[in-house]
Formats: sequence, C-alpha cells, structure tokens
Amino acid sequence: MSGKLEGKVGVITGGCSGIGLATARKFAAEGAKVVIGDLDEVNGPRIAAELGGSFIKTNVTDEAEVEALFAHAKATFGSVDVAFNNAGISPPDDDSILKTGIDAWRRVQEVNLTSVYLCCKAALPYMLEQGKGSIINTASFVAIMGAATSQISYTASKGGVLAMTRELGVQFAQKGIRVNSLCPGPVNTPLLQELFATDPERAARRLIHVPMGRFAEPEEIANAVSFLASDESSFITATDFLVDGGLSNAYVTPL
Ligand code: NAD
Repeated sequence: MSGKLEGKVGVITGGCSGIGLATARKFAAEGAKVVIGDLDEVNGPRIAAELGGSFIKTNVTDEAEVEALFAHAKATFGSVDVAFNNAGISPPDDDSILKTGIDAWRRVQEVNLTSVYLCCKAALPYMLEQGKGSIINTASFVAIMGAATSQISYTASKGGVLAMTRELGVQFAQKGIRVNSLCPGPVNTPLLQELFATDPERAARRLIHVPMGRFAEPEEIANAVSFLASDESSFITATDFLVDGGLSNAYVTPL
C-alpha cells in the first residue's frame, strides 16, 4: 500500500458490512485511523480492533447519535478528515410505486437520505475549522438510470444524495472541503445477495446490462473511495463518481 491516507482520520457509516467494511480495511491499510458508525454491535468492536480503529454504535437516522460519532472521532484521533457516509438499506417492501407503502417509503428515505444530511451537517464544522476535508456520500447508479425492476424510494433517495452532494461540493469548494457522490454499479455484498436470493430472475435481468458481465467486488469500490478520500483527487469535487463497470453508458452488451 502507498500510505496515501497516512495521518487522516476517516469516519465510515455502515462500516460493518459490504462496501463500508471493504473501505474500512482499505483506509486502514493506507494508513488512516478509522472510526466506524454502524448498528451492528456484534461485529463492530471486533472489526475496529482488527483495524486499530474505533467503533461506536450509531443509528444514522438519529441526529444526536450522528453528532456523537463525529465528536468521538475528533476526541479520539484529533481530526475529521474524511466522512464516508455510506450506510443504506434496500428492503424488499420498497418495490414498484404501486406496491410500496408510505412506511417503507419513509424508512428508506430516513436511512438513505436523511442520514447523509445529518452526517454532512455533523462533519462540516470540523472540516471548516481544519480548512480541509473530503466527504464521500454513497449514492448509486440507479440515481441516474431508470429501472423496470423498481425500488421507488431507494431510487428517489439516491437521487436526493446526488443533488445534495453536488450543492455541498459547490458551496464549500473554496473552504478546502471536497464533497463527492460515489455511484457504484451492482456490487456483490450482503445487501444485493439478500435481494437476489429471494428473486433470481431479478438478478439475471440486471446482470445482462453490465458490459463486464459481472457485479463489482466491494474491494473495487473501496479503491475508488480511497482515491476520493486522498489528496490524489484534490481537483475532484461535486461529481457523481461512477464505478459501474460501464453499465450507465451501455446500449448493447457483449453476449
Ligand atoms: P450492506 O447491507 O452490506 O451494509 C450496510 C451496512 O449499513 C450494514 O453494516 C448495516 O448494519 C449498516 N446500517 C444499516 N442501517 C443502518 C442505520 N440505520 N444506522 C447505521 N448503520 C446502518 O450494504 P452495501 O451493499 O455495502 O451498501 C452500502 C451502500 O452502498 C448503501 O448506501 C447502498 O445503498 C449502496 N449501494 C450498494 C450497491 C450494491 O449493489 N450492493 C450498489 C449501489 C449502491
């Protein structure tokens, strides 16, 4: 590893599984101090200990808990250099607009969109005081493409993440703070595995559209996050950063 995150403190939400976990490992390998905020009290402390970091049980929809997460990072390691606001859900009761009830709609908006608002709001004061910082908000390729296999609240929430991130990137561009959206294509994580285990036809319908003919591995997404977190991406802000195996630019894919 290059040590490109040496001296940085990175807060990662949803760091106990999938993309967040792979990123926590990558950040630590690149020299960062990692603070994980997640609901998973069983695995969180073990993962943090393995990485020489810290875990704090956090529900990202709770303003006080989110504030405590970033305060903990500052108090424990001295700064908040990177915020990877990544926790998200994709529950089966979020489906076609014709089937999705208001409770599922609201739950997904809270976890996927309101959480990003809360995390940015909590991280920014530390970054403004430091005069530097990198925020990476996890959106999704579905925020820029329409899918007939709809998850209406998920898609709308991720569109909100893109718009909010762009605005923050522009607003804070001259304060040394970069704010980017990460738009992964389909990734081989528990979130996706759970969804597809209940509906293999749905998996096949999606896979056919990926030019590379496979889903991403979490480590491939973590590499992109690590780049956006590092000073190597110093002129990149307010982007929809796609890591999607060519999916969003494909018309006819190889057989
Ligand atoms: P995952 O289910 O593997 O991990 C999500 C983590 O978030 C878990 O550790 C879970 O405990 C945590 N979490 C859930 N709700 C929380 C809450 N309220 N407070 C705190 N932590 C909470 O998911 P993943 O596939 O790694 O997805 C991570 C992000 O990437 C999500 O925002 C997801 O929408 C996005 N994404 C995933 C894919 C994919 O194909 N897997 C594609 C595009 C975008």
